[in-house]
Amino acid sequence: MRVPTGGNGVPTGTRANAVTNFTGPKKLLDEYHTLTLKQVQSWAAYNWAGNDDPRVDDPTLEIKELDLLAADASGKRAASKQQYRIRSELLYAILNNTIEENDLDLIANESDDYTFADPLTGDQKRDGVILLFKILQDVKPSTVIDVQDLENKLSEATLQKYDNDVPKLMREMETIWKEIKRLKPNTYSDSRFLTQLFRALETTSNESLERTIEMLKDLWILQDPKCTIPFVIQTACTKYVNLVGANKWNVTSAKDTKIIALTTALNDHKKKFNELKSKVESGNKNDANSGGNDSGKGGKKKPKLKMPDWRTKFVGKTTNQEGKKWVWCKEHKAKGLFDGLYMPDGHNHAEWKKEKNVRLAEWKEQ
Ligand SMILES: [Zn+2]
Repeated sequence: MRVPTGGNGVPTGTRANAVTNFTGPKKLLDEYHTLTLKQVQSWAAYNWAGNDDPRVDDPTLEIKELDLLAADASGKRAASKQQYRIRSELLYAILNNTIEENDLDLIANESDDYTFADPLTGDQKRDGVILLFKILQDVKPSTVIDVQDLENKLSEATLQKYDNDVPKLMREMETIWKEIKRLKPNTYSDSRFLTQLFRALETTSNESLERTIEMLKDLWILQDPKCTIPFVIQTACTKYVNLVGANKWNVTSAKDTKIIALTTALNDHKKKFNELKSKVESGNKNDANSGGNDSGKGGKKKPKLKMPDWRTKFVGKTTNQEGKKWVWCKEHKAKGLFDGLYMPDGHNHAEWKKEKNVRLAEWKEQ
């Protein structure tokens, strides 16, 4: 959906064709933040107005009847206005059915902004394009995404990610938190942030710091008023500085060794799983009616074709082999093995794929 921001829609050229002088179209979904309510309203009002009524900058929200049967270009413009109306009403219906009731109340309070009325009959229509614009302005999807991203950063912060440096971790987390508060005030509470601080600090493998964090957490749980965010940060940083000074920070503890061993084992499993997964996805499982058995464990480097060679060699749309009819389906690909495959006659790729995914999901659950 594009909203022109310039021109009045009056036909250009000498011939009265459907070409209008609109300029500066902006995509509603991508560029809503550069549009104003007035611009969106004036575009809507143009479409709710009569065949040749021009776009005006500060419109009244009125409905006028269209003459779709009007001769030549006037009728064409009426048709495109009609198109807009249908889409806009549809959009309104969808939004109205989709949005949470509470949010709808909020929007309903401003319904004057998107309600068009017929001055003759009193009929009212709601313009979905304007409503969508208002929702976008209100929700600011990009901000939501940014904030979500920052919140994830907070909840995934670990000492390991910040060079095992406590002051660095604290500084970064505080910066992220401030940014969240700036983008969406009053959404991320102090206590929520404090729980994230504790969680991040608990990723330490230093047993002395661990004890300090435990002590701080106890204070917090007991609602000790001195256990504020600055106090927690200060205490953790001081502890770190003291440990570094006493050469007791970068001591590899038994816990570290265990973590390293576990991580290695985990990565190993991940690798094996990915190998298996890519094998399954590559279509080696396609062998007709094989019931989806996955053989061949262990690390092999070269992929092997597990089906008769002829199935991969295109000789025509269909072929007869093994006393059966086969059809060529070009959707099956395996790097270095085949690009297209003969499948049993009656093969419907979409159906086949659906079934395969179900089987795959079942297999993963085991
Ligand atoms: Zn297929």
